[in-house]
Amino acid sequence: MSIMEDAALDLRLRTAAADWLTERAQHQRELATQAELAEFIFEGRRVALLDRQRGIRKPAFLDAALSFRTRYTPPGHLPPYEDREGPDGLLRYKYRGEDPEHPENVALRRAYEHGLPLIWFVGIAPALYLPRYPVWLIADEPQQLQFVVALDEAQRLIVPGDAVGTERRRYVERLTRLRLHQPVFRARVLQAYGTRCAICQLRHGSLLDAAHIIPDGQPAGDPVVPNGLALCKIHHAAFDQNILGIRPDHRVEVRPDIRKEVDGPMLRHGIQEMHGRQISLPRQRSAHPHRHRLEARYEKFRTAA
Ligand SMILES: [Zn+2]
Repeated sequence: MSIMEDAALDLRLRTAAADWLTERAQHQRELATQAELAEFIFEGRRVALLDRQRGIRKPAFLDAALSFRTRYTPPGHLPPYEDREGPDGLLRYKYRGEDPEHPENVALRRAYEHGLPLIWFVGIAPALYLPRYPVWLIADEPQQLQFVVALDEAQRLIVPGDAVGTERRRYVERLTRLRLHQPVFRARVLQAYGTRCAICQLRHGSLLDAAHIIPDGQPAGDPVVPNGLALCKIHHAAFDQNILGIRPDHRVEVRPDIRKEVDGPMLRHGIQEMHGRQISLPRQRSAHPHRHRLEARYEKFRTAA
């Protein structure tokens, strides 16, 4: 095949893969299992979007990598992407091993050199991934054994390696929160809670949020599962507004004045009857809310009441 034909094939595959992932997301199936990703069909043949063994996927008929992944880390372990921003605020993706010429690193470098869009699969649970796409590698840092990742078009415009001003850096980091940290937090919290509201058990995924116990932006307000609760929209808002609180012993407490209020069925069944209920917790102990976070947040609720 000619170089032109190769490039056209490469583009068709990347486009088809992105379309397939988008189609899934529109049907509430944004997360994909390793098995589902292995069954992707492109122009009549099976082309796994993710390699079972390797962190980087390069189909044999392509010249460059198609995807890379970050494995799931259980709560309590440092997420691999955390604190890995460079002086420019952009994320780094570490090489496979220490050899810049390892075939997987070479495949990623090709994607970087040709400015090709990649898919980043972020582990949500074992063998379950949240795809982020398109993303680009915008620099190679062989000294540090890593590539610089841009999560969207705006980040692609940043010149990697330069220390940037506070304002600029904050902007870059806000994009990272929006494109990566928040969606990953939401997916991991919902997954941990079995896609159910911890207070009322509502199971409708599109009506659920991952609520922060300690709000985002405050010290200890980081987007980790033990700082999260899966809550439905109503209970999330009620929690944020201190209409109800969650005691450190995991019981729901509805604010006294709200308990006396007379209103329709939503207030009665949806809020007042939740008073004294035990919230449901993730099966995995390490995913439970941290007690000190619940205590700090409950104190805020009490002083607001
Ligand atoms: Zn609820």
